[in-house]
Amino acid sequence: EDVRVYEFAEACGKSASEVITVLFSLGMMVTKNDFLKQDELEILGEEFGIEVTVKDALEDVNYVEDFNEEIDKSNFVTRPPVVTIMGHVDHGKTSLLDKIRSAKVAKGEAGGITQHISAYTVEQNGKKITFVDTPGHAAFSEMRSRGASVTDIIIIVVAADDGVKPQTEEVIAHAKASGCPIIVAMNKMDKETANPDMVKSQMAEKEMLPIDWGGDIEFIGVSAHTGDGIDDLLENILIQAEMLELQADPSSKAKATVVEATLEKGRGPVATVIVQSGTLRVGDNIVSDTTYGRVKAITNDMGQPVKELGLSETGNVLGLNDIPTSGSVMVVQDSEKEARDIATTRAEHARAKELSKSTKVSLEEMSGLIAEGKIKQLPVIIKTDVGGSLEAIKGSLEKIQNDEVKVKILHAAVGGITESDVVLAGASEGCIILGFNVRPTGSIKQKAKADGITINTYSIIYDLIDDIKATLSGMMSAVI
Ligand code: GDP
Repeated sequence: EDVRVYEFAEACGKSASEVITVLFSLGMMVTKNDFLKQDELEILGEEFGIEVTVKDALEDVNYVEDFNEEIDKSNFVTRPPVVTIMGHVDHGKTSLLDKIRSAKVAKGEAGGITQHISAYTVEQNGKKITFVDTPGHAAFSEMRSRGASVTDIIIIVVAADDGVKPQTEEVIAHAKASGCPIIVAMNKMDKETANPDMVKSQMAEKEMLPIDWGGDIEFIGVSAHTGDGIDDLLENILIQAEMLELQADPSSKAKATVVEATLEKGRGPVATVIVQSGTLRVGDNIVSDTTYGRVKAITNDMGQPVKELGLSETGNVLGLNDIPTSGSVMVVQDSEKEARDIATTRAEHARAKELSKSTKVSLEEMSGLIAEGKIKQLPVIIKTDVGGSLEAIKGSLEKIQNDEVKVKILHAAVGGITESDVVLAGASEGCIILGFNVRPTGSIKQKAKADGITINTYSIIYDLIDDIKATLSGMMSAVI
C-alpha cells in the first residue's frame, strides 16, 4: 500500500523529521506528505533496523516480486546485454545503429531490413547483443528515474572530426548518473579531418579518461560509413557484459520494458518491448502501467511474426487496450482479470497521487536544513547564454563552499533550460536549476512544477551568487 512519510514515521515510532533527515542525508528529497517509494522504504528499513514488508502488490508488481520472494536462481542463465547509443545530434548515432544492424544480421535475413527501428538484436561470435535507440536522453533518464533501467551499457558517440559538443556533455552527465559502464565510440574516423586525440583530450576534461591515458574508459574509433571498428566495438561490449554477469530466468513469468508505443491503424496499440526476464508469449495476460490486455501477436525485430520473445530480445507486442507509457514495465499475470484489476488500481492511484502531489523542498526549507547541518550539498544544474558567464558562475559557485556545505554542480552548459535538464534534476537528488540569461519555456516550466523542481533565472551574476550564498549559509529570509 502507498504510505506517506508521516504515516511511515508514525508506524515505526519516529518523528517525520527523523525520516526526512535520513532520506536527506542520502540525497533523497521528501516532505512529510510525500508517498515513499519502494527504494526509500528499503533504505529506511535498513537505517532504522526494522523490517519493512510491502503487502499490497498492486502498486508496483514488479518490484514486490523481485524483493519479497526468495529469488530462485537455479534457472538463471546468462542474458545478452542491452546497449543504448547516445550522442550529439549529427554525430552518427542513427548511422551507427543502422550499420551495425546491416553488417551483423544473417545474410538471408538482410532483406527484412527496410527501415530504421528502435531496438534490435545482433550476434557477434555467437553471442547476442541488443541495441536500443532511445528517443532521446531525456526519455532515457525518465526511464531510469521510473526505475525501468533497461540499459546495461552505454555507448557515447562523438564525431572524431567535431569533438565534444553541448549535447555530448549532457549525455555524459546522464550516462554517469546511470552508473552503467560507458564506451566511447569515436565515429567518422574515415574522414580526413578525424582527430581522435582531440576527442580524447576533450573527453578527459570531462572526467572521461581513456584507458590508454591511464583512465578506465574504452575509446574505440569507428566509421558508420565504412564499418571499420564495428567489430572492435562489439567485442568490447561483450567484454563489458561479461564483467557485469548479467543473468535472468527464462522460465519465469515475463517482465519486459516498453521502449516505445504507438497507435497503429488497423492494429491498435503497438508496444515495442525488450524482455528483461522470463519469456513473453502470444496469449499471455499482460499489464503495463495503466494498460492491460492479452498478447494477440508478436513480431520480432525483423518484422516477422513469432510466438515468443526470450531474454533481452525485442519486438512489437499487440493486444493492449491502450498505449502504455514509454519506460513502463510490462508484466505477465495469471488471468486477464488480474491484469485488468492491476491496471485499474494503478490508474486510480495515479489520480489520487496527482491530487495530493506536494512540491519537493523549496530553497527556503533547504536553507533551514542546511542551517541545522542536515544536508551538506546543494546540487545544481547551471544553464547560461554564453560560455563566459558559465565559467564565471561555475568559478564563483565552486569558491563559496564553507567547511560544512558546498555546491555540487551536476551539469553546467551553455544553452536553454531543456526538458532533459528537468529530468536530470529530478533523477539526481532533487537539485535546483539555475538559468542565467536563459528562461524555460512554458511547457518546461510546467513540467518542472509537476515534478517539484525549482528553476531560478537571473540576469545578474551577482544576484545568482548571492542567492546561493544565502541558501548555503542558511540565512535566507524568503523563498527565492
Ligand atoms: P545522428 O543525428 O547522431 O543520428 O547522426 P546521423 O546518423 O543522422 O548522421 C549525421 C550525418 O553524419 C549524416 O549525414 C551521416 O551520413 C554522417 N555520418 C554518420 N556517420 C558517419 C561516418 O562514419 N563517416 C562519415 N563520413 N559520415 C558519417
